Amino acid sequence: MNYEIKYTKRRCVAIRIKQGEVIVFAPISYENSQNNQEKLRKFLESKREWISRKIAEYNASLKYFGLDEVLKYKKFLLFGEKMRVLATTKKSLKITANGEILIPKEIDIETLKKKLKREYARIAQEQLANRLFELAGKHGFYHNSFKLTNAGGKWGSCDDKKNIRLNWRLILLPTHVADYVVIHELCHTVELNHSNRFWNFVARVLPNYKQLNKDLKNYGALTSYLR
Ligand SMILES: [Zn+2]
Repeated sequence: MNYEIKYTKRRCVAIRIKQGEVIVFAPISYENSQNNQEKLRKFLESKREWISRKIAEYNASLKYFGLDEVLKYKKFLLFGEKMRVLATTKKSLKITANGEILIPKEIDIETLKKKLKREYARIAQEQLANRLFELAGKHGFYHNSFKLTNAGGKWGSCDDKKNIRLNWRLILLPTHVADYVVIHELCHTVELNHSNRFWNFVARVLPNYKQLNKDLKNYGALTSYLR
């Protein structure tokens, strides 16, 4: 098992698995203590199965819809569909309304990433704002403001002032999956926590939310795409 250990001010050991990599957080006192190192080893051993399962889930999610190729910029997604890639002699990268992506010829990877991110953000700003407005109206929610976010690892958020933030990468997902996130955040304007009351509320709007939540997990690898 490969893992990285970080010694921090925390009081107990924690394991974090992000993008298929294992990071172990341990108290500083563990660093030079043989006793504690032994304790740490046993702790990790007891979590081995859970860790393997998490990594297997991540790898499965990468294979899902060829996300591994998406992360290597060999495939490009828009609303869950693979876009048709065309080379252009122009300098700008463009995503068209009929789902084609025009990429400048002989572009280097760093420039491609920069232009791609800018183009996705442009589309996300318009599309996600519209979708939020539509779904809020349809289900009778009130929110204060909407902002696009670039923060990785999270699809959306809603604070106690009913300000909603949505990850621009939601436009990579099939519409029904992205809509689940939008509705999830809208439900937080009523219930800020993840209590039973919250989930009952989500279920009233989206009876199949459990399946949608599972679908969303399949795209987990994309939360930090182009970061
Ligand atoms: Zn939530």
